[in-house]
Amino acid sequence: MKVVCDHCGAKVPKYETVISPEDGKRHCFNCFNKKISQELGIDFETVNFDPITLEDSYGGKHTFHFRSLLVPTGKLIEAFELKEGEPGGYMSGVLDGFSCDISDLNIFRRDV
Ligand SMILES: [Zn+2]
Repeated sequence: MKVVCDHCGAKVPKYETVISPEDGKRHCFNCFNKKISQELGIDFETVNFDPITLEDSYGGKHTFHFRSLLVPTGKLIEAFELKEGEPGGYMSGVLDGFSCDISDLNIFRRDV
């Protein structure tokens, strides 16, 4: 299910949005990250990675999607599966400080 960002008008999956407690408006992660980075005075660029599919030891396939967020304790990349269009199944995340290069946090990168 896609919803509209109240800030930029982008249509994004509902799970890729945040409702602001200040004004009750829905922000896509791009707008949310921009807002928080401006408020904190921190450089942050939302990065997007293509989903990847991994096979578990039983031969089951797991496709992970990624999202990057600026959170109160630093920069975060989450990897998650989708079940019936919503995050579910296996989830993982990598968090580092505000000064890190967020591109380095993608533990699933194959070029390292
Ligand atoms: Zn937006």
